Amino acid sequence: MSENPVIIFGAGATKACDGPLTWEILPNAFRLESHLQREDFFPVLDQFLVQNFHLPENPDERSASDYPGLPLLISLLDKAIDHKHNFSPDWPVDSLVEVRNALEYVIFALLEHQLHHIGRNHYKRFLNRFRRRNESMPTIISLNYDIIADNSLIYLGNRVYNQPRFPDYGCDVATSLYRERKKFGRLYKLHGSLNWLYCPACHRLDVGISRSGRSMVKMLEELFTEELDLENRYTCHGSPCRDCGSFVRPVMITPTHMKDYRNPHISQVWYQADRALRKADRAYIIGYSMPEDDVDVIYLLKRGLSHLPAENITVVDFDDQARPARQHPAGARYSTLFGDQIDWHPEGFENWLDTSFSGSRQ
Ligand SMILES: [Zn+2]
Repeated sequence: MSENPVIIFGAGATKACDGPLTWEILPNAFRLESHLQREDFFPVLDQFLVQNFHLPENPDERSASDYPGLPLLISLLDKAIDHKHNFSPDWPVDSLVEVRNALEYVIFALLEHQLHHIGRNHYKRFLNRFRRRNESMPTIISLNYDIIADNSLIYLGNRVYNQPRFPDYGCDVATSLYRERKKFGRLYKLHGSLNWLYCPACHRLDVGISRSGRSMVKMLEELFTEELDLENRYTCHGSPCRDCGSFVRPVMITPTHMKDYRNPHISQVWYQADRALRKADRAYIIGYSMPEDDVDVIYLLKRGLSHLPAENITVVDFDDQARPARQHPAGARYSTLFGDQIDWHPEGFENWLDTSFSGSRQ
């Protein structure tokens, strides 16, 4: 039994719960436009993509690969906004801020929509297994913006204590309800989160609750106040900071902006994640293929887990050919970094939970 287990969730973990992979977010959102449409968000984004990324004007003629990659799109927008550059003659910097807002809403709305429809919450099952065995609750490090891990921890905390508790996010959240309540579990989100609202002027960080969270934990309805209302804070008119009145923004950081330490909360989260990894006696890495250009995350894992024997590092990925680690591109990267003895599972999150994890006492 481990004293300090750490779980790292990548995009594949959300995919296993029927959530979208990053490249699916834009095509899926436009497919569901009639359900998700709000204010002018979709038309603004649509026009921007058609004029700058050669997206066919007629939605019926588009395929998923016509959309630009989401991290690239966010990074290009942020770069232009940071440098106060026009993107093209028709797209001055002010309009780029609108596009960025629209994009944030579209990502939020699509992930929320899909969260409402998830039948299989493997995050919850996985975490519940620790609780049922009376083991220490693992520290979770998430690379995802979505809030499946958040909702799962709130759900389990509610089961254990009969009252909703927030996870400890490892940074200085100002929301009064978050501060007043005891915490359940630790959740460090390295790239930010859709339910975090950040004020770039005074650095205030708030946390909100969305419909998917409320539907999962009924008791949240009692606590629910305007302060926590996430849906209403995604608006193209801007949502004002409760301290200084500047407009707040959700926190979604792309790999190229990882070193953006202007957001002090993100550096705090990375620091806490580093500490948790160094103390870990067991690590589970779920659905993270460790792409080679993701240098900051790889560096964090390599340094943080170097004290662990390879067999205490479980890597779960999905490969329909079930190749051994050395013959799988991600598996080979893990073997090179941590050793050939890593506990490699190419059977996918769900199958691994059903078979190996339920049978083991590790
Ligand atoms: Zn502020």
